[in-house]
Amino acid sequence: RPSLVFDNVHFGYDPDRKILHGLSFEVPAGAHVALVGPSGAGKSTIGRLLFRFYDPWSGRILIDGQDIAGVTQASLRAAIGIVPQDSVLFNDTLAYNIAYGREHADEAAIEQAARDAAIWPFIEKLPKGLETEVGERGLKLSGGEKQRVAIARTLLKNPPILLLDEATSALDSQTEEEILATLRRVSEGRTTVAIAHRLSTIADADLIHVIQDGMVVEHGNHAQLLRHD
Ligand code: ADP
Ligand code: ADP
Repeated sequence: RPSLVFDNVHFGYDPDRKILHGLSFEVPAGAHVALVGPSGAGKSTIGRLLFRFYDPWSGRILIDGQDIAGVTQASLRAAIGIVPQDSVLFNDTLAYNIAYGREHADEAAIEQAARDAAIWPFIEKLPKGLETEVGERGLKLSGGEKQRVAIARTLLKNPPILLLDEATSALDSQTEEEILATLRRVSEGRTTVAIAHRLSTIADADLIHVIQDGMVVEHGNHAQLLRHD
């Protein structure tokens, strides 16, 4: 499993407006790290730099010790699985949605693949069988169920790094907590970065970095950070 490092990254979208002011944090190989901070702090910008939609003005981003400035976008897409806040599902079966990009999308094959990948706990809580149609003419999923499907789809690809970009932020706090706890169980040892809103719901992270104004202003585990609140 690779590590991920932001090392003194400076960046802005416009030359006269810097957004990241020397952002530094480390996600050790296999660790689950959360990035928390107010809206506008620069959290989503981190994902855009990771996929090289933009490059930093200065500083380095390292995956497994390698500066991504020399890595293609295609390799980065293969290395990092991302789950955004509002995942879009296809008007198709749950199996197809979970298996998207794989060959066999029938119920039995997907169930077996999910069991092999040890991600079945994400799927078994869905309200209906995997052959159920979802979307406009089918079953309406709740926000939490949609995100379960999206996370399962991404985990099934077995990405070395998992990036949750506010993937659970729009959910009620109990659902967020449940999903993050499930993730912890099924994704132990996978390098994971969870960008989140609420410190209260991310108790399971090994390490939490608090980002404000494009910098890490504090870090620690959940108990340590709550003590400072
Ligand atoms: P967060 O995810 O923490 O809410 P963002 O990374 O989305 O923060 O945004 C950080 C800052 O960058 C905000 O002030 C936002 O307005 C600005 N910003 C985001 N995207 C762009 C863009 N494409 N062009 C210019 N400014 C942007
Ligand atoms: P894959 O390339 O493995 O099929 P996805 O279909 O999940 O992966 O996503 C396609 C690509 O879109 C991602 O790998 C990433 O480059 C980009 N992408 C999607 N959502 C975001 C986001 N919120 N921030 C940055 N990049 C994103």
